Amino acid sequence: MPHLLMIGECMIELSQNNELGEYKQSFAGDVFNTGVYIKRCLKDSAQVSFLSVIGEDKLSTQFLNLMANEQINSRYLYRCKSNKMGLYIINIDQYGERTFDYWRENSAARQLMQLIKQDSDKMAFSSVTTLFFSGISIAILSPDDLQDFWKFIKCRRSQGCQIVFDPNYRPALWPSPEHAKDAFEIAYSLSNVVLPGVDDHKNLYNHQTAAEIASHLEAKGIGEIIIKNGDLEVLVSARGRRTKIDIIPVTEVVDTTSAGDAFNGGYLSARQNGKSVKDAVIYAANVAGCVIQHKGAIVPKACFDTAITP
Ligand code: ADP
Repeated sequence: MPHLLMIGECMIELSQNNELGEYKQSFAGDVFNTGVYIKRCLKDSAQVSFLSVIGEDKLSTQFLNLMANEQINSRYLYRCKSNKMGLYIINIDQYGERTFDYWRENSAARQLMQLIKQDSDKMAFSSVTTLFFSGISIAILSPDDLQDFWKFIKCRRSQGCQIVFDPNYRPALWPSPEHAKDAFEIAYSLSNVVLPGVDDHKNLYNHQTAAEIASHLEAKGIGEIIIKNGDLEVLVSARGRRTKIDIIPVTEVVDTTSAGDAFNGGYLSARQNGKSVKDAVIYAANVAGCVIQHKGAIVPKACFDTAITP
């Protein structure tokens, strides 16, 4: 059975609920969101695990309950005494625009490589077939831990594991754009499938078009390059051929927070199910299109299951 391992950070999310200033609490994190959508799409035909660190506090325990509800395997989830999960708040300003405040500098997830090193026997990872990480997963690691992370990825790759990367560039998490670029170049060179967004590359590389991004990445010998661009066409480059796939714009967009994460989940699950790259993009766009019509990064399961068939 395929076993997909999602590596990164999930945070406590507080979103402003009404004018009284009340906040609704939930959990979200790019790779975790993707894992949830993969599991919802693939159901019992795949195992999805989350490799991360949470605290020993009550909210961390609630997160474990969410994982159980979503049938995400917690075998690779560490709990640490000294640190808790990171937190972010979504504020709505007077014009209805969302702004974000983060408390993640000391989050438990930053301890990941230290804990893996102490526990290398238990963490054999031998059943993992696909490993997914993002630019955020690596941005939160110290320089030394990042070197250990690359060794970890290289080792999995040499054992035949498929490596998938989404750059999800967040400038505030990096000491400088050069640090991010250096790390992304390594991540790209180690990946079999990459899922960048045009905005990531506009901000970091000053690439203006999906075609420019494709030219940059094709030189690295990556098997599948899938370039997302909001409601504009997706550009795919695979086996030496570029294909453009139209996106049907959603008219009632409610919240695009996890559009890219949902797309990634749909794409990876469709590929696991044997769909072609093109059909997987169409399926992924349906999944993302469904998710952006609801509030929150992880939309209610009932709405999702009604709209999306495996
Ligand atoms: P990210 O969250 O990484 O910035 P994008 O905004 O590029 O991702 O969106 C990812 C995918 O979500 C797109 O490729 C598309 O399939 C879907 N999507 C995003 N916005 C829309 C929209 N307005 N209408 C339809 N689909 C959308």
